[in-house]
Amino acid sequence: MPVNGLGPYDDQNIFARILRGEIPCKRVAEDEFALAFHDIAPQAPVHVLVIPKGRYVSLADFTAKASDAEIAGFFRAVGRIAKELDLETQGYRLIANMGPHSNQEVPHFHVHLMGGRDLGRMLVA
Ligand code: 5GP
Repeated sequence: MPVNGLGPYDDQNIFARILRGEIPCKRVAEDEFALAFHDIAPQAPVHVLVIPKGRYVSLADFTAKASDAEIAGFFRAVGRIAKELDLETQGYRLIANMGPHSNQEVPHFHVHLMGGRDLGRMLVA
């Protein structure tokens, strides 16, 4: 069910529980700033979620409240992971959903890193 993506942060959201190790995930990479894992319902041959470690509900929340080190560390991790997954040659798409119009489901800021096939042009529906 879509969420509004606006605070307050819900410590019981699925990604918070994954970060605490209460729910398993298929981990792709992890460092001090980010955790990357395979989406449970992949919509492309490669569909990885990258989440910051802190309690942020959306991109605006993250960029307003996170430290410069967290923001730089997170986006550096996204770029590094795209490269490590060998997505650079054929390309990939990065998606960050926020709010009902985007159908955001999990109120913890995250990006979808998708690739492994021709993804078509932007939005289809
Ligand atoms: P959103 O719509 O919030 O941008 O995307 C949330 C994503 O999280 C969806 O693509 C959904 O498949 C994925 N997801 C939801 N629950 C779980 C889970 O428990 N584990 C994993 N790995 N992904 C999940």
